[in-house]
Amino acid sequence: MSFSSVIKEELCRVEAPRECCTRAELAAVFCMNAAPIMAGAPDAVSQPPAAERDHIVTENAAFARRVFNLLRGLYRVSPDITIRKNRRLKKHAAYIVCAGAQSGPAHSPDADIDKLRRLTRKTCCKKAALRGAFLAGGSVTDPEKLYHLEIFCKRPEAARFFAELMARFSLKPKITARGEYEIVYVKESESIVNFLNVTGAHRALMSLENIRIVKEMRNSVNRIVNCETANLEKTVNASLRQIANIMYIRRTIGFDALPPSLREIAELRVGNREIGLLELGQIANPPLGKSGVNHRLRKLDQIAEELRGANGRRAGPSLSQKNQTFSIRERP
Ligand SMILES: [Zn+2]
Repeated sequence: MSFSSVIKEELCRVEAPRECCTRAELAAVFCMNAAPIMAGAPDAVSQPPAAERDHIVTENAAFARRVFNLLRGLYRVSPDITIRKNRRLKKHAAYIVCAGAQSGPAHSPDADIDKLRRLTRKTCCKKAALRGAFLAGGSVTDPEKLYHLEIFCKRPEAARFFAELMARFSLKPKITARGEYEIVYVKESESIVNFLNVTGAHRALMSLENIRIVKEMRNSVNRIVNCETANLEKTVNASLRQIANIMYIRRTIGFDALPPSLREIAELRVGNREIGLLELGQIANPPLGKSGVNHRLRKLDQIAEELRGANGRRAGPSLSQKNQTFSIRERP
């Protein structure tokens, strides 16, 4: 089942205890009626005639049942419901709920934007209208792939109205044209979460949050791995620099010229190139802490620098160790 279907299933079960909200939700559904009302795939349906403002056509049985129940609850009259097999609907059944069939247009909800505006003054009714609009023309992309929620509107004034409603709940809606129709959409995961909260799809909200957490965790693991790689590279570069300096000392003055403590570390470093400072300290005799090893290696760096300086004064400029860079792939 697609994420859109999961949300719609849940929204169809949201209770509408107040009459004001029932009116607002139905008005939103029937305002969307000028657009093809299809769960999931609005583009797949042919256009209903503009005059058919008192009925909805949908492939979604739960949505058809909800509209039927809301109409019956509000007008105390059972609306007509028919099932149509349609090849254009890929052989899925289409449910047609007809509001005014039995008792005339007086028992039809308002499909007019101005009336819908008056019906949605209260916050509870705004929420109900957004729920109706989403049930009638909304869809959400699989959040594993992309954060995208949209409401497909045939009439531009409907798109503007629902965008206004969404903005009231800080949902940051945008409007774009798709062919001759307009789409109200939100892109941010935060806004989609808020939309699900506002319309009452709390279980879908939880599963979206879980997907969000896993995605964020994956990103932060990648960040940590990248950071550790960078640290490793720094350690390797430092080790390469130390070894180059020690080899320079051996070539110029020889290890015999070093004090015994420095000579030991110099020999251990050259003999064990792959290990870290901690392990290097452990094989010293007596064992040294990491900072002790670091201290001695810095001294060796210093001696090498001084030797280079002295040689430079005698034999002209030589390669400056400070500006020399090493990468992991290079071995001295
Ligand atoms: Zn209300």
